[in-house]
Amino acid sequence: MVFDKTGTLTTGEPAVEEVVILDSAYDQATVLRLAAGAERRSSHPIADAITAAAADSSLPSPTDFETIEGRGVRAVVLGKELLLGNRALLADHDVPLPDGLDRDDITQLLVAVDRHPVAIIGVADQIRPNAAEALAGLHRAGIDRTVMLTGDASPIALRVAKQLGIDQVEADLLPGDKVEAIKRLQRGGHRVAMVGDGVNDAPALAVADVGIAMGAAGTRAALEAADIALMNDDLTKIPHARAVARRSYRTIKENLFLGVGVVHVLGIVASLAGWTGLVQAAFIHLGPDVAVFLNSTKLLRVKLDR
Ligand code: ADP
Ligand code: MG
Repeated sequence: MVFDKTGTLTTGEPAVEEVVILDSAYDQATVLRLAAGAERRSSHPIADAITAAAADSSLPSPTDFETIEGRGVRAVVLGKELLLGNRALLADHDVPLPDGLDRDDITQLLVAVDRHPVAIIGVADQIRPNAAEALAGLHRAGIDRTVMLTGDASPIALRVAKQLGIDQVEADLLPGDKVEAIKRLQRGGHRVAMVGDGVNDAPALAVADVGIAMGAAGTRAALEAADIALMNDDLTKIPHARAVARRSYRTIKENLFLGVGVVHVLGIVASLAGWTGLVQAAFIHLGPDVAVFLNSTKLLRVKLDR
C-alpha cells in the first residue's frame, strides 16, 4: 500500500516555523513579503502558510508567475525574479546551494532573488494523529509492504516514515515519478493501493489498482481519480474498509455456493431422481434463501484482525 506524505500522512496545513537569512541585505519581513507575493497565484498549501506568515494585507502582485510542479514557483515580484521551492528548483536554475543547513524536522523552502540565495523558510506540517495507528492496523492485517511517495526532501520523508513504521520511502519525486513508482510495483507483481490527497498525485491514484482519496482535505481531482474516498480523512478507516471488503467477497462466494449449490444442483438432482415431494421442494427452494440472508448478517459486525 502506497501513501503520499503531504496532506495524506500529514494534515497538509503547514505553518511557517522560522526564516533563516542567508544574505544580510534582507530581513525576515522583506523575505516573507516577497515570498508571499510570489505565492499569491499558487494554490499549494505551502502558499497559504507563507501568505499567513507574511500577515500583510497589501502584498505585491507578481508580474510574471509560473508553477514548477513538485519543485516550487518562479515569479517576478517588485521587479525582482524570485525562486521559491526545494533544492531541485534552485539546482535547475543554476543557483548555488548553501551547504550544511539540511533539516529533517521541517520542509525547507529556499528563496533566491535574481538567482542568488537569500533565505530559507522552514515550514512544518503535523503528522495526522491517527496515522501511526492506521499503519499498524494495516501491517497487522497482512499488508506486506508500505511505501511513501513524496515530492518533499528525503531527510524529512525518512523521519516521518520512521515515525510511522513505513517500510520504504521515495522522496524528491515529481508527479510523473509517482506514477512510475506505482507502475514499477505493479510490474513487480504487486497489487497496489494508493492513498493520496490529489495534490500532485491524482495520476498515481488513477493508475493504482485501488485509489483511495482523502475526501475532506483532498482535491476534486483526487475524488475523480480514486475508487474510494475517505470522507472524514480518517486513515484508520482503511484497514476497516479492507476488512469489510474482504469479508463481503468471502460472503458472496459462500452465498453463491449455498444458493447455486443447494438449490440448483441438489434440488434438481433430487427432484429428477424423484426423491422430493412438494413440501421438500419448497424447503429446498426457500431454505438456502434464509441461510444466505443469515450468512450476510454477519457483515454487520466485521471485526478487525488484531
Ligand atoms: P508531496 O508529494 O509531499 O505532496 P509536492 O509534490 O506538492 O509534495 O511538493 C514537493 C515540494 O516542492 C515541496 O516540499 C516544496 O519544497 C516544493 N513546492 C511545491 N509547490 C510549492 C510552492 N507553491 N511553493 C514553494 N514550494 C513548493
Ligand atoms: Mg500531497
